[in-house]
Amino acid sequence: MSRENAGMLVVISGFSGAGKGTVIRKLLERYPDDYALSISATTRPPRSGEREGIAYFFKTREEFERMIAQNKLIEYAQYVGNYYGTPKDYVEEQRAAGKDVILEIEIQGAKKIRECYPEAVSLFIAPPSVAELKERLAGRATEDSATIQKRLEQAANEAQWMEQYDYLVINDDLDACVEEVHQILCAEHARVSRSLPFAKYIKNEMKEFLKGDAKP
Ligand code: 5GP
Repeated sequence: MSRENAGMLVVISGFSGAGKGTVIRKLLERYPDDYALSISATTRPPRSGEREGIAYFFKTREEFERMIAQNKLIEYAQYVGNYYGTPKDYVEEQRAAGKDVILEIEIQGAKKIRECYPEAVSLFIAPPSVAELKERLAGRATEDSATIQKRLEQAANEAQWMEQYDYLVINDDLDACVEEVHQILCAEHARVSRSLPFAKYIKNEMKEFLKGDAKP
C-alpha cells in the first residue's frame, strides 16, 4: 500500500516578478509525474505570447461573474483591477489522479484556500532583494512603467502577509529554488497526518501477523 492516494493542494504565491512562474515551469518539467499546474481564469487581457488555455482562460467580466455564480471556482480574487480565479473541475480531477496540484495565486486567494482546505501546503517565493525585484519587473518589457509601479505597490502590500505561509523560499539561484520546493513537497507527503490510512494498514497487518504467530 502506498502512503496516500490523493494529491496535495499546493499554493504558491510571491511578488509579481519574483520568478515564481519560472520556478513552477521548471518544477513541472523536472517532475512531470508528480505535479500538475492549475490554469486560472482571468479578465486580464493576454500579454504578448500568452495563449488561451495555456497561460490562462481569458474571460470577459460577464463570463467570469457567471463562473462565480455557478460555483465553478474554488477561489477567486481581484488583483490590479482584474478578476483571477481557480476552476474547480481540473483541480479535483488531477488530485484524484494522485498529482499535487499547484495553484499560482495571489495572497487573497491563498487565504481563501487556507480557510477552505486547511491541509493545503502554502509557499511564498521571494526575490533576494527589492532592487532585484524592480530589475526583473523592468526587464520583462511587457508592461508600462505605471503598471510596474502598481505591481511594486502591490508587492509592498503583499509583504505583510508572508508570515501566514507555511514556507518562505528565496529565488536567488533558480535550480536550487526548484529543488528546495520539490524537497519541501516531498517532506509534506511524509507527514503522519497525511499517512493515517497507511498507519492503520500497517497496524492491522501487525495484529494479523501476531495472531498468526500465536497459533500453536
Ligand atoms: P499576472 O497578471 O501577473 O499573470 O498575475 C497577477 C497575480 O494574480 C499573480 O500574483 C498571480 O499569482 C495571481 N493569480 C493568477 N491566477 C490566479 C487565480 O486563479 N486566483 C488568484 N487568487 N490569483 C491568481
